[in-house]
Amino acid sequence: MAYQIKLYNSLKHDVEEFIPNTPGEVKIYTCGPTVYHYAHIGNLRTYIMEDVLEKMFRYAGYKVKRVMNITDVGHLTGDSDDGNDKMLLGAKRENRTVMEIADFYTEAFFKDCEKLNIKRPDVVEPATNCIGEFIAMIETLLEKGYAYLSGGNVYFDTSKLDNYYVFSLQNAEDLLVGVREDVSEDKNKRNKSDFVLWFTKSKFDDQELKWESPWGVGYPGWHIECSCISMKHLGEYLDIHCGGVDNIFPHHTNEIAQTESCVGHEWCRYWFHVNHLVDQSGKMSKSENNFLTVSTLEEKGYEPLAYRMFCLQSHYRKPLLFSYEALDNIANAYRKLVKRVSQLEREGELSQEKFDFYKNKLIEALSDDLNTSNAVSVIYDVLNSDANDRTKYELIKSFDDVLSLDLTKEKPSGVSTEFEQYIKEKIDQRSAAKKRKDFAMADRIREELLKEGVALEDTREGTKWKMF
Ligand code: AMP
Ligand code: ZN
Repeated sequence: MAYQIKLYNSLKHDVEEFIPNTPGEVKIYTCGPTVYHYAHIGNLRTYIMEDVLEKMFRYAGYKVKRVMNITDVGHLTGDSDDGNDKMLLGAKRENRTVMEIADFYTEAFFKDCEKLNIKRPDVVEPATNCIGEFIAMIETLLEKGYAYLSGGNVYFDTSKLDNYYVFSLQNAEDLLVGVREDVSEDKNKRNKSDFVLWFTKSKFDDQELKWESPWGVGYPGWHIECSCISMKHLGEYLDIHCGGVDNIFPHHTNEIAQTESCVGHEWCRYWFHVNHLVDQSGKMSKSENNFLTVSTLEEKGYEPLAYRMFCLQSHYRKPLLFSYEALDNIANAYRKLVKRVSQLEREGELSQEKFDFYKNKLIEALSDDLNTSNAVSVIYDVLNSDANDRTKYELIKSFDDVLSLDLTKEKPSGVSTEFEQYIKEKIDQRSAAKKRKDFAMADRIREELLKEGVALEDTREGTKWKMF
């Protein structure tokens, strides 16, 4: 059955029917992490929603190829051509080399993704693997007259385009690069909106990673990497390009400018942008020191998948306000859901009719511009329906191909391995507190666990626990 999938396309400012370049196939490109620090739960919101997007296509029967870069060079703190290189800042902060930082945080990123059931894209390519491709593309842009050399750097000439601001969210007056008060204007640029394709001369002469190029030893700008890595693996016609909303300008605007100038035709039809996770102080950002990671949530006793459910409960195009109170509510709902599913009988005959009905309902919710909160409510519809337990169980197991909440992977008690581990650690901490006669601490731990629905019982064989 062919489903009609509707998605909001940032390029058109409208919800559109998705029509792939090749029927039945979807090519997706995702801007990957800048690996100079841990991913925060805001970054991971974006990756969770992109993961659901990819899995929705697979669930609806499409063949999907998804590619993601790892930004390990060229991303400056200003997103444009100003500021320090983020990787270098990370290396200095930790007294390590840029490559050590890149390897460490790339691995940390995928560990977090694993905890959140975010599938690894089919191809993951670090920018530093593709220097040859970047140079080749810049050479083409120079040959075609879209780029110029100035002051030792290669720039893209935005005046060569009829419509540089393709997302039309900006106007040349108020969003031009280099006009912020704290940033000095780059005098080498012909137009204020031009951007760097290749640096040989930068204000920051201690750049660690540099490569030979026809224009001298230097390093690529940030935007060129996504254009090249996408085309390297997905060709000249891309179906969907993803990222957070902050990527729209200048990153995606510049990607379109250089890619379409290079290939001479439209490159990517659909642009999928996830809105930000914010907290009371505003957008969560890696450059702030108080950002939250998956480990922070785990240390506080949350299961990572409760955060996935938190993200699924809101629409990807709306900002999502994070608070522990809100997460607590979802974490409780998540635990109850796991328990309810674990109590379903797995015997009995599957009702194919009901299975197909609810499977369609789930796809309908998701194909309506990825309405994940409606998709989650389909789980409850199934549980509250008159279908038999076996059918309910098989449906929820099947939904997990997309929603990936591990609703059927849990132990019969409804407690995940991570949560069990957490309880054990708390019991050990309580025993240690009792040994050193810190009874106030021991009581506090017991109360903390009580709030999580865990009751402790001290027996001769040691402390036992049960969910109530
Ligand atoms: P970065 O590692 O900074 O390059 O960002 C990785 C991804 O996270 C990009 O797609 C960003 O647009 C996205 N992102 C950054 N901050 C947030 C946030 N607060 N909420 C959601 N997505 C974000
Ligand atoms: Zn990108």
